[in-house]
Amino acid sequence: RQKLNPPHVAIVPTPGLGHLIPLVELAKRLVVQHNFTVTFIIPNDGSSMIPQKKVLQALNPQSISSTFLPPVDFADLPEDAQIEARIALTMTRSLSALRDSLKVLAESTRLVALVVDVFGADAFDVANECHVAPYVFWSTNAMALSFGLYLPRLDETTSCAYRDMPKPVQFPGCVPLHGRDFLDPVHDRSNQGYKSTLQICKKLKLASGIMVNSFTDLEPEIFKALKEAQGSQGFPPVFPVGPVIKLGSALVSDGDHECLGWLDKQPRGSVLFVAFGSGGTHSLEQMKELAIGLEMSGQRFLWVVRSPNETAKNGTYFTSSSTAQQKDPLGFLPDGFLERTKEVGLVVPSWAPQVHVLSHESTGGFLTHCGWNSTLESIVNGVPLIAWPLYAEQHINAVLLADDIKIAWRVEMNDKGIVEGQDIARYARGLIEGDEGRLLRSKMKELKEAAKVALSQGGSSTESLAEVARIWKGHN
Ligand code: UDP
Repeated sequence: RQKLNPPHVAIVPTPGLGHLIPLVELAKRLVVQHNFTVTFIIPNDGSSMIPQKKVLQALNPQSISSTFLPPVDFADLPEDAQIEARIALTMTRSLSALRDSLKVLAESTRLVALVVDVFGADAFDVANECHVAPYVFWSTNAMALSFGLYLPRLDETTSCAYRDMPKPVQFPGCVPLHGRDFLDPVHDRSNQGYKSTLQICKKLKLASGIMVNSFTDLEPEIFKALKEAQGSQGFPPVFPVGPVIKLGSALVSDGDHECLGWLDKQPRGSVLFVAFGSGGTHSLEQMKELAIGLEMSGQRFLWVVRSPNETAKNGTYFTSSSTAQQKDPLGFLPDGFLERTKEVGLVVPSWAPQVHVLSHESTGGFLTHCGWNSTLESIVNGVPLIAWPLYAEQHINAVLLADDIKIAWRVEMNDKGIVEGQDIARYARGLIEGDEGRLLRSKMKELKEAAKVALSQGGSSTESLAEVARIWKGHN
């Protein structure tokens, strides 16, 4: 009887809307294109997760259902525990509950695979115990994956802090990467965040396969090198299946947000969209410089403003900013800013319907924190970027986008780590009106087409996912 059931996949996302959204999209593709059914099993720390729940509730439970594991307890963690350590620990501390859930699924469905995200490698053992193949959905790009796969070797061969390495590192197929642009948590090698990251990277090799949210034409050399490394380094097979992104509204009543009406009234390609993902925040000083820069540029802008945070660049990560729990962010803008810029700018507190904004014809550029979902959303719409990385793997993304793919202009910081207003004005003007923007835009347009082809019938990403599906169904 079991054989007649559709093949079933368990997907385990770690905390963060940026992890969940592409996994939901992946699940939809598995259902629609390959007749799978899916269960999301969700480890969590007891945060309210309102936006996450909304995303999951919008799915048809016949094909994609979800279950929340009992919340883990973080009472013993130090206040300043790094976010990566918290995310990884959410998984580690949920393993026994995950094992129970997976066993029930294995008995009641034709369970063929467990898919985890970047932070989920701890669940491989549980998958193996339940006799299902552990797969990773790598929600960022092939360059960041190369970094992850080669980090254990770098750890063995480097004794200094990575940011003090005299030369940049060149992973196979990648452009050079300076130590200062490595992942956030690896900078302090004595920190728990580094140990967790290294541990995860070591385990990556043990996955049965890694799906990457990128496509062959975006990173051709890197994918080629990763394929070669399968034989030479014993890395797992890598499947470029992206862009896997949400095409409709991300959240709330996105479709009728006031900023879309405002965009309708602006000239084609004239507006710079300024947003830093679901978690990005700045210090008050930086926020003021950004305001000064936008005003000075004279360009039209749509800016998603968050309340400043002096200590963290990911101030709203666990809560997600859409829940509007913050103090009124507009109160932190320079005096008279809103009045002076009202003809050219619109400021939106905390959250904007980004997918709609990027696909709007008035949007001509995107000043972004280089979160990978934001990047892909910009690529599929052909919108060129100003790269302002903040945390996590965003610096690697910025290097890839600016130095390799050449679709972004990367911001520079002064000695105090501040991007100055006059520079912001220069980037904004250059991107929307200048020669810099023209070059980046034309490359972006090529990639927009390439992404479309990759996802079409017979396209590289469609075929790659079909290969994974065949393996899971046992037909390879
Ligand atoms: N997002 C949005 N409105 C906002 C900020 C973010 O809709 O004001 C969405 C965005 O479209 C993307 C996701 O939230 O799908 C952010 O993911 P990304 O990987 O770019 O960054 P992260 O939030 O993980 O840092």
